[in-house]
Amino acid sequence: MPVRVGYYEAARRTTWECSCGWHGRFEEMVQGLSSELIEASCPACDAHLASVDLPTIEDTRRAADAGSDEAERDLPRAEATEGRWQRAAALQLTRADQLPHLDLPAPDPVCLGPGSRRRR
Ligand SMILES: [Zn+2]
Repeated sequence: MPVRVGYYEAARRTTWECSCGWHGRFEEMVQGLSSELIEASCPACDAHLASVDLPTIEDTRRAADAGSDEAERDLPRAEATEGRWQRAAALQLTRADQLPHLDLPAPDPVCLGPGSRRRR
């Protein structure tokens, strides 16, 4: 039965074991990435050993505060990403009157219905 753990917990755990006899580090497992999880499997027999939640920014902060070297390394990048998300949210248009006015020439009158093609 695979265990479900947080990203920094998985990285911190020094030894993973499989019923086939393999043991090793998280980085040695076969890893598949989805949008929210890393599915980690035994490199010897392909047994599914762990579902690892990808860290949120808060997870990274907590792990860095708890002394994780990896989280401390990740934190500046996570905070930069958070800053980009906040700027994008602040710039997001929510109403049509926020769109810029464009001075464009009036379009040629064209009828696009069936049988309306202009002949030259
Ligand atoms: Zn195995």
